[in-house]
Amino acid sequence: MSVPFVDLKAIYDQLRTEIDVAVGRTLNSGRYLLGEEVAAFEREFAAYCEARYCVGVASGLDALHLALIALGVGPGDEVIVPANTYIATWLAVSQCGAIPVAVEPDLGTYNIGPERIAAAISSRTKVIIAVHLYGQPADLDPIIALARSHDLKVLEDGAQAHGARYKGKRLGGHGDVVAWSFYPGKNLGAFGDGGAVTTNDPELASKIRVLGNYGSREKYVNEVAGFNSRLDELQAAVLRVKLQHLDQFNDVRRLTARLYLEGLVGSGLVLPVVPNWAEPVWHLFVVRCVDRVALQKGLSSVGIETLIHYPIPPHLQGAYEGMGFTRGAFPISEKIHDEVLSLPMSSTMNRSQAAEVVSKVNKLMHEAC
Ligand SMILES: *Cc1c(COP(=O)(O)O)cnc(C)c1O
Repeated sequence: MSVPFVDLKAIYDQLRTEIDVAVGRTLNSGRYLLGEEVAAFEREFAAYCEARYCVGVASGLDALHLALIALGVGPGDEVIVPANTYIATWLAVSQCGAIPVAVEPDLGTYNIGPERIAAAISSRTKVIIAVHLYGQPADLDPIIALARSHDLKVLEDGAQAHGARYKGKRLGGHGDVVAWSFYPGKNLGAFGDGGAVTTNDPELASKIRVLGNYGSREKYVNEVAGFNSRLDELQAAVLRVKLQHLDQFNDVRRLTARLYLEGLVGSGLVLPVVPNWAEPVWHLFVVRCVDRVALQKGLSSVGIETLIHYPIPPHLQGAYEGMGFTRGAFPISEKIHDEVLSLPMSSTMNRSQAAEVVSKVNKLMHEAC
């Protein structure tokens, strides 16, 4: 039995009838930008996230970037980011001319916490970006309290965490603003690029909407130097269909995660830790293994596809060469990047595929010892 990491075509096959209707309806409307589908998706996604406002944009990176501008971040400002995250979190800061100030994560949850964030705050800090990495909510309450006490804003990167809950409440309206990605492989994925922000702050929502639409509220009146960053009608129509199934899709991921957590207890792998206030959505199921190369090769030879999220931390990428970091600058993050392996995880996986992964991982781990 082979187990692909994720099968995007299988997701389309499951929803084909509904998606084809939605796409046909949109094509027939003759309206492809700034129309009814986006407006409806924004209402529906805001409601789903328990937030007051949602604004569609062109990608997750743009959602982060426009949110930072709307929060007043500019050249020379500092923004706190996790040392281990997808590089987009850092790039959004750099795109504002601001400086990403990296904070080491917790080795159990892989997210950043208030103690290390507090140590990184300076007089130039404007915003803290908390990433809900791998679909696990960060510990928001103490981070928000810390931000309030220093007059800072909290931007959450929710790109991997659609539908997750923190202390019983959905992500989407805890911090000042949350950035979402609808990249095809995300828990809520479009058939191309897409993104959004959610917030409870009407002014922030309005600023971000204007920024993403050429700085314009009224056609041909440009109040600020904006961008072209809009969620399009076709993607919104697809996302409306998928949003109706998101909870059920996340339940499939939860079942797989439970089977992994139970089945791999004695494997010798380091398994993800879930704090009692977190309801994760398992965008990725990430284990740590000192000899991940051998494990990945062994799994591949029996048809089980695994990936690495991510092989190189942002501070050691060519993109950040200019900041002058060398190996050893962020040892916890480097250790994570050296040891992590993501097991197959998707909303179309079944019990027997999860059982197959568990059995093959245990077999390989026991042979290695
Ligand atoms: C995917 C992702 C992004 C960027 O989203 P895009 O839609 O690809 O621009 C940002 N942050 C994290 C943590 C992500 O996983």
